[in-house]
Parts: sequence; C-alpha cells; structure tokens
Amino acid sequence: MDRLKFLYQAVIMDHSEQPKNKGELEEFTAEKTIYNPTCGDTIKVQIVHHLDCISDIAFDGQGCAISMASASIMTDLMKEKTIDEARALIHDFYLLVQGKELSDKKSLGEAAALEGVVQFPTRIRCAQLAWKALEDCMNQVEDDT
Ligand code: ZN
Repeated sequence: MDRLKFLYQAVIMDHSEQPKNKGELEEFTAEKTIYNPTCGDTIKVQIVHHLDCISDIAFDGQGCAISMASASIMTDLMKEKTIDEARALIHDFYLLVQGKELSDKKSLGEAAALEGVVQFPTRIRCAQLAWKALEDCMNQVEDDT
C-alpha cells in the first residue's frame, strides 16, 4: 500500500465524510477549542463528566480530513470511558501516531487506522488535535473535584 493510501484508509474517509458526535451539546461540564495553525484546523471538544465517566462527548469545528476523522473516531471511542481509561487511550494514541511501539493496538479500535500519519510529520498535529482538547477538558473537571 502506498503512503497516501495508508494515510487515507477507508475508515478515515468514512469518518471525515460523515463525522459522528459532531455538533454542540446542550449541557456540558467542560469544553476546549484548539487551533492548529500549521493546517488551519479548529476543533472544539465538549464533555459531560459524571461519576468519573465521560458520559457524553461531542466535537465541532472544521479542518482537514485527518483532523475531522480523528475527532469523530476519538469521540466514539471515549463515550462511557472513565477518566483513567481515557488518559491511557490518549497516551497509547500519541505513541501510535509518533511511530512508537505499542503493546496493544486493539484497545484503540478505529483510531489505529490513523497510524499512517507517522509518515507525514505535519499531519501528526492534525491527528492529535481533538485528543489534546479532550485532555484539557479532563484537566478542567479534575481541577473542580
Ligand atoms: Zn489538518
């Protein structure tokens, strides 16, 4: 498979064309907007934090196919996860997109398809954007407790 085909795998294209969990939540406990100047992506993530769980999550914004697909996949993956589980997944995802060894790729689910950004260093930021926004949201709710 060539590098571009590997980057834009079908699962990535599906999520970027029909993103899941896109839009604003009516009520949320934390939100964070992050801008990626190198590509022009803007992503806002909102979460509902309840009993140490991410009981709901959504994103909004615009950007390239990678940033949108990554946000869509991330929000799907994180729904109903505990804060600790979410942090572990974020940690694994950062290792994946940086091309580091991962003991268990399976827990990342569809996010594993973003592995192709490894060969396009400027796109790593696009892939990480929504995940960084979620990290910030979790820091906000943990500061409150
Ligand atoms: Zn981008």
